[in-house]
Amino acid sequence: MVELEAVSRSYPGGVVALDSIDLSVRRGELTAIVGPSGSGKSTLLNLIGTLDLPTSGRVVIDGHSVAELSDRQLSALRARSTGFVFQQFHLANGASALDNVADGLLYSGHPLKERRERATDALERVGLGDRLMHKPHELSGGQKQRVAIARAVVGQPALLLADEPTGALDSVSGASVMELLHELNAAGTTILVITHDRDIAAGLDRQVAMLDGAVYADSGRVSAC
Ligand code: ADP
Ligand code: MG
Repeated sequence: MVELEAVSRSYPGGVVALDSIDLSVRRGELTAIVGPSGSGKSTLLNLIGTLDLPTSGRVVIDGHSVAELSDRQLSALRARSTGFVFQQFHLANGASALDNVADGLLYSGHPLKERRERATDALERVGLGDRLMHKPHELSGGQKQRVAIARAVVGQPALLLADEPTGALDSVSGASVMELLHELNAAGTTILVITHDRDIAAGLDRQVAMLDGAVYADSGRVSAC
């Protein structure tokens, strides 16, 4: 599903955020990315999500080599293959849960009525079928994150990327968000989760530990024999 070959990302001024990363993620994996602040976790996830491009190296997502795609093809790949969830939810404040989720299908070409129907299904799937018309300020943190997850998966992406999705939540809400990610994974979605929480990381299939822009340890690495 994801192949990174010697991927580096530097920023002007000489910051090397990622230093020649090799990483391969198979379809169906549920992987934790761990590591101290500044170790390159978000940069890595943004490259996998094609929100950012590497300075050097090769990124292949769902069989597509990212460098060979036009901007338009890249947007299409992102819309079709990848859902994102962030620590701070990134919901539109003035819009209902339903419309926040329906917006996840804006680039799908479906008419509004169908976008809203699919959004309703997605919100039911995350346990918010009774909160469709609530706006973000009328929801708890855990519920907001569920809306954000519904928006990320409403287009049925093969890959879900979550950058500290429980970082702003209390432990009970965080646990229920993780339970939801486990359910989505069991239903077939490949998931990468950045987390600071050791218990959460330990509960996932695979742990990739980052340090200073490199992969320091990887429980899922297939050793070359
Ligand atoms: P993490 O998510 O593990 O905390 P990041 O991937 O956000 O780490 O950052 C990795 C390194 O890259 C840090 O040293 C950070 O300061 C630097 N960095 C991240 N984004 C930028 C940017 N837009 N411009 C310059 N440096 C950046
Ligand atoms: Mg980060």
